[in-house]
Amino acid sequence: MKNLDQRNQIIEYSIKLNSTNLSPLRSGNISLRGKEDDKEGYLITPSGKKYETLKAEDIVFMGLNEELRDTSNQNPSSEWRFHRDIYLNKKEAQAIVHAHSPHATAVSSHGKTIPPFHYMIALAGGEDIKCADYATFGTEELSNNVIKALEKRSACLMSNHGQVAFGKNLEDAFELAQEVENICHQYTIALKLGKPKILSFEEMKKVLEKAKNYKKE
Ligand code: 13P
Ligand code: ZN
Repeated sequence: MKNLDQRNQIIEYSIKLNSTNLSPLRSGNISLRGKEDDKEGYLITPSGKKYETLKAEDIVFMGLNEELRDTSNQNPSSEWRFHRDIYLNKKEAQAIVHAHSPHATAVSSHGKTIPPFHYMIALAGGEDIKCADYATFGTEELSNNVIKALEKRSACLMSNHGQVAFGKNLEDAFELAQEVENICHQYTIALKLGKPKILSFEEMKKVLEKAKNYKKE
């Protein structure tokens, strides 16, 4: 089968979505940039299938310039549009994780940008984490809103829905989604105590510079 290693990696991380509580049951989706028969595209989880039951042949390859096509096996995730648009807009994106993680989803229901109440906000690439405006799941409108919220960022919230993160590989994208969930957890606790102190733009500039060398393998 084509791209077997990539397909198996997607399955491994899809199961991790459940086991780490990053996304329960069938929620969320995962993709990897890839090629099939010299065609640029991405491999993506199928729509509405329980992760624990996934087989390599269930993972769907979609061309980057392709609209939805009939597949004899499975349909791609309903969110294939924003996966495609992230790959088209972000050359550095090699993998994408979308999750309905509990705290990120709770914060997303407020539809607000998360300010730098903690310096780790910088992991998403800037001095705050934006929230994409609400649109119905699986729509072009939602994809457009996600692309806007990801401007100069590698993760964002999606209003009344969840979060999305991308990275240079699947491990990286998954870890960022976990960091976003952790930040949202901390933010919900901070808000319970009142209005948190917010770091200044100047301080976040310093942090962003230092964060470039933070991650070791
Ligand atoms: P899919 O099963 O179609 O990927 O849908 C899950 C989801 O999270 C939609 O936003
Ligand atoms: Zn979703």
